[in-house]
Amino acid sequence: MIPFSPPRIDQKIIDEVTDTLKSGWITTGPKTKRFEKALTAYCGNKATLCLNSATAGLEIMLRWFGVKEGDEVIVPAYTYCATANVVIHCGAKPVFVDIGDDFNISVSEIKKAITPNTKVIMPVDIAGLPCDMDSINALVNEPEIKKMFQPQTEVQKLMGRILVLSDAAHSVGGAYHHKKVGSLTDVSVLSFHAVKNLTTAEGGAICLNLPEPFDNDRVYQDLCIKTLHGQNKDALAKLQPGNWRYDIVEAGYKMNMTDIMASIGLVELERYETETLPRRKHIFSMYDQLLAPFNRVILPLYQSDDRCSSFHLYPLRIKGINEQQRDAIIAEIFKQQVSVNVHFIPVPMMSFYKQLGYNINNYPNTYRMYASEISLPVFYDLNDELIKQVAGAVVSAISKVLGTANE
Ligand SMILES: *Cc1c(COP(=O)(O)O)cnc(C)c1O
Repeated sequence: MIPFSPPRIDQKIIDEVTDTLKSGWITTGPKTKRFEKALTAYCGNKATLCLNSATAGLEIMLRWFGVKEGDEVIVPAYTYCATANVVIHCGAKPVFVDIGDDFNISVSEIKKAITPNTKVIMPVDIAGLPCDMDSINALVNEPEIKKMFQPQTEVQKLMGRILVLSDAAHSVGGAYHHKKVGSLTDVSVLSFHAVKNLTTAEGGAICLNLPEPFDNDRVYQDLCIKTLHGQNKDALAKLQPGNWRYDIVEAGYKMNMTDIMASIGLVELERYETETLPRRKHIFSMYDQLLAPFNRVILPLYQSDDRCSSFHLYPLRIKGINEQQRDAIIAEIFKQQVSVNVHFIPVPMMSFYKQLGYNINNYPNTYRMYASEISLPVFYDLNDELIKQVAGAVVSAISKVLGTANE
């Protein structure tokens, strides 16, 4: 069976993890700090905090901004549940909006959804393709939109407008107008979950890029405390001889990254531009070449004049099919020993959200894109032979279910 996205665990990773284990310092320490600095340099943002997941990063940023009951947070209907779940955790209301034909949140739909209760917009760079951040950043700065904003906390007063909190779980290494993801908006949160492009097994990072008058280093320090019990000294600082006393300044969370995780991340980041991204890009262009001749398939957009994907997912679509036909095609692909996936089942279709009253019929493009979508395997060790096998399985599955791949 060709897997969907196994991690690349080679001797280099094993050696770096072993080095951490032997060092005697396995929790948050020097390697996590090094990884944070390397990420800041790579993404071009102002300060970076590594955590145990992207979900934790998104939630702590909502809490840092003071999002609470009565507030609204705009999220795309087409995303992984984590984007919306964290809004629920804060007691606020996720306001879903529809997507465009690139799978990303529609800026005109965002504009329609803004109310005086809107505190945050969370765009998601689906499949690794950055959202139209210039338009979103311009939107939150429009005089009419700013006038509507009702700040309730000191941080909100300082911001003076809606916060743009980018869910960049897919898009580390992606670019928009030649700027890298992480530096495109106020805050971006990366994921290093096992299936993501750059992994630390589990893990995530908050890329801070807050405008004046915010001091990003100060915010970083505050977040370090918030994500470690509200403790004013971390374990490494407490290790200094005699430096044992500490205080708890708030009821903080426990979200820190360990040096074991960071050691995987350091190796992954070091070879990300030279090995990971070129390999993924090659896989994408081979899929394009092999599938383009069949006019039932719609190739995904992952590169244009102004933006470039991180090549995280290859979301193929099949023209004119319904959800049942898509599911039948997937079943046929699996029969040929190839793993594929669907990214994503829209959040308003999930039981929990349905029971809250959300209805997928309000997001017609989200449903249309979902119903015809199949994500193909992309991983470092997927060689040309296997790529051909995947493409062959897809074409024969389409022919089997629809009679032909060409009409
Ligand atoms: C994976 C993913 C997340 C969650 O990342 P974790 O690091 O597992 O918390 C959030 N949003 C999207 C769109 C994702 O795909």
